[in-house]
Amino acid sequence: MPSPAPRPHNRLMLAMTLHAAGAPLEPVSRDTPAPGPGEVTLRVRACAVCRTDLHIVDGELPLPRLPLVPGHEIVGSVEALGAGVTTLRVGERVGVPWLGGTCGHCAYCDGQAENLCDEPVFTGYTRDGGFATHTVADARYCFPLGEAGDDVAIAPLLCAGLIGWRSLVMAGDGKHLGIFGFGAAGHIIAQVARWQGRSVYAFTRKGDVEAQALATSLGAEWAGGSEDQPPAPLDAAIIFAPVGDLVPLALRAVRKGGRVVCAGIHMSDIPSFPYRILWEERQLLSVANLTRGDGIEFFKIAAQAGIRTHTSVFPLHEANEVLAKLRAGQITGAAVLQP
Ligand SMILES: [Zn+2]
Ligand SMILES: [Zn+2]
Repeated sequence: MPSPAPRPHNRLMLAMTLHAAGAPLEPVSRDTPAPGPGEVTLRVRACAVCRTDLHIVDGELPLPRLPLVPGHEIVGSVEALGAGVTTLRVGERVGVPWLGGTCGHCAYCDGQAENLCDEPVFTGYTRDGGFATHTVADARYCFPLGEAGDDVAIAPLLCAGLIGWRSLVMAGDGKHLGIFGFGAAGHIIAQVARWQGRSVYAFTRKGDVEAQALATSLGAEWAGGSEDQPPAPLDAAIIFAPVGDLVPLALRAVRKGGRVVCAGIHMSDIPSFPYRILWEERQLLSVANLTRGDGIEFFKIAAQAGIRTHTSVFPLHEANEVLAKLRAGQITGAAVLQP
């Protein structure tokens, strides 16, 4: 009898693995896991690097488990289907976002707010993510991506794009939109806002001429430092940078009734500020995670708006160097790892 063909998930995979908060990721070789019921094993084609990965590696977020493979902006190909998976097929290209699973029965899941689920699963945080050659995901939370478009260009859409989109919706329909922190999310959402006919005002670190040049090349009306006054009062502002000092600056830049949306998962402390900069019905909001509905909506918008991501690609084994560059503000646009 001929011996059966080797099953793909028996091969070795490589994962850049976190063993302790603040420690460098270590390359670890192990068996590629087989998918459990409802899961798929993916070959990672590209994984973008998000500021949340940096917060996790640096221990700024509590670590639910170690060792851990970060990475939650994954573009991969399905290599193996777990029992009961009928919605995806082997070879199909899919995207895996931060929201890796929900309980399906808490008040938030019942109320169309699965982003706030009481027992969520997060990719690259409560389960292993995409800084690896292979990963396993819950099939119900993967987005089919088709084959159009480049893996590297699409990867940043899976968090910077998606959570940026949720933030833009939360910011309301105002015409004059400020974006504080013009990195991966900022440069994607600026394009969506321009496509919607809004005026974009980009606030960067003082003297970050590269980010400011990227902003104006993408159609921003104005680009300057975060302490500068924009030429027009803003209807809304989104803060993508994890810097609490930006909250009072953004509140001062929005008009009466305007909104300030904090889009990150972590921010340094917000300094105290006079009530009068919040008064006159200004609103301060935060955004947490995403729903699958956000993803379906955003991928349609991204195609219609012709979003073009500005990326820098690095080999997987350079994950630590990429995180260091992100920490130092040396990445313009989005960084993407490729195995
Ligand atoms: Zn739930
Ligand atoms: Zn992210």
